[in-house]
Amino acid sequence: MRKKVTLGILGGGQLGRMSAIAAARLGIPVIIFCPEQDCPASYVAKETITASYDDHDSLRLLSEKTDVISYEFENIPLKTIEYLEELKPGSILPDKKLLDASQDRIKEKTFLNNLGIKTTQWCKFTEIEDLKNTLNDWKTTSFIIKTARFGYDGKGQLFCTSDNIENNTSLNDFLTKHNNQHLIIEDTVDFRCEASIIVARDKKEKTVVYGPMLNQHKSHILHKTTYPAALPQSTKSRAIDMGRQLADSINLTGVLTLELFITKDNRLLANEIAPRTHNSGHWTIDACAVSQFENHVRTVCGLDVGPSTAHSGAEMLNLVGDDIDLADSHMSREGACVHLYGKYDVREGRKMGHITLLQDLKERKSS
Ligand code: AMP
Repeated sequence: MRKKVTLGILGGGQLGRMSAIAAARLGIPVIIFCPEQDCPASYVAKETITASYDDHDSLRLLSEKTDVISYEFENIPLKTIEYLEELKPGSILPDKKLLDASQDRIKEKTFLNNLGIKTTQWCKFTEIEDLKNTLNDWKTTSFIIKTARFGYDGKGQLFCTSDNIENNTSLNDFLTKHNNQHLIIEDTVDFRCEASIIVARDKKEKTVVYGPMLNQHKSHILHKTTYPAALPQSTKSRAIDMGRQLADSINLTGVLTLELFITKDNRLLANEIAPRTHNSGHWTIDACAVSQFENHVRTVCGLDVGPSTAHSGAEMLNLVGDDIDLADSHMSREGACVHLYGKYDVREGRKMGHITLLQDLKERKSS
């Protein structure tokens, strides 16, 4: 007889939803834990517990009803994971080391640099005088200031030029607004393109990699992902090696994503890590036999990771805010796979769905 495994997922957004759909295909029931009513994942899960992440009674209930617990976004409080770990040691995956690093840009960059993975030049912000000296040392004409925590999709960050920073009103406003938070300064990367790699690794340490994919952003939000990436093979191999190195370094069980800048001289600089599936891997649902979501479910539930091989090339377009109105125009398009997240409240910047346009892999490879 096959052992029944019930999977708990913290977070109820579209990533949780797509993991729950993949789990259903494998006969794995999912219980979603999310503070919001009617979250996108709730429509496809066996059960949803609607409670806040510090509600211990509800977390205990989740723990009792499930065999393994994962999460779908990185801003789950670490205390929540620690509490669940106490109740169910070794069953909260991926391991919280990665979650902890990904929640704080200072820890994240330190973690990457300690592994020998290069990032852009960065430092913790202390005061304007120090910033001036740092920018002089870096000989840079522009920089970005970011909040160390809770920044995503371009939130909590400001691009600045390096001259006359004392009188930069936007910078001063930013510093006033975030005066009780840790801030980080990064040198601006004049990148050729942005890319990502998604790694899935199972308990037997078998690892597969999706990508690299090329990512284009609009207003700091992912707009388009393309696979395969038009990059030199040596650049692709280095990106894949970085992803594998990262996964091995934390003995990953689950899925992680590494976002990269590729410079004009083909250097790879890590930008961010996500301890989870990623928007840039949505195309894998339609273009691979085993998607990132299925491998997320498989790996955390103790099953073997599946091959990440793509049978098609793909272009993934996000439907953000009013873009949802474009969904109908794709319905009859050849090779278009339409995914809508069940969000009916349209808001600017809100990810409402995505379209994957399948393409002939041979044509893409030769183009
Ligand atoms: P992040 O929240 O760090 O992922 O940044 C969002 C987007 O801002 C990235 O995908 C880049 O397009 C841009 N960006 C962030 N940091 C840098 C940087 N150091 N240099 C150039 N562009 C950046």
